[in-house]
Amino acid sequence: MAYEELLEDPVIQKYLHELVGPTGMPVAASPPDGEVTDEELAEEIGLELNDVRRALFILYENDLATYRRLRDEDSGWLTYLWTFEYDNIPERLEEEMHRLLDALEERRQYEMDNEFYLCETDSIRFEFGEAMEFGFECPQCGSELVSMSNSQLVEAMDRRIESLREELNVQPEEAEA
Ligand SMILES: [Zn+2]
Repeated sequence: MAYEELLEDPVIQKYLHELVGPTGMPVAASPPDGEVTDEELAEEIGLELNDVRRALFILYENDLATYRRLRDEDSGWLTYLWTFEYDNIPERLEEEMHRLLDALEERRQYEMDNEFYLCETDSIRFEFGEAMEFGFECPQCGSELVSMSNSQLVEAMDRRIESLREELNVQPEEAEA
């Protein structure tokens, strides 16, 4: 297997798992060296053909697999020959991490810009404006809504943001200005 080393990386395993899900993982985890048909793959790993196809198309949509169609001249039947393009994984993974970093930074800003109130009975969180509309009473159970600090959440996000920035070699935004 050409991609053995790549697939030993737990980050890459997790990435593939998130893409194709547990059902598609046997497909994503056993890329053949050359071209393969979906039927061959299904037989090889003992999976339903539909599950194999679903996984292959997810990989295709993420630029991690390509296919070409062959038409059988006698039957007119189409065969799909698949090639795994796992050389693209590091690049795709980096894009994914950039997206995650952007989302985290946006979410952090939301946490910083808002005050939150909590129903301790239902563990439901409300923004200040919502809580005020409800007269600081939980609309579900009537309990009093209490002011809630999100500093621990923000700190956890900061740590995650920092480690992502380090990994991606991205400077904090403040430093760019
Ligand atoms: Zn409640």
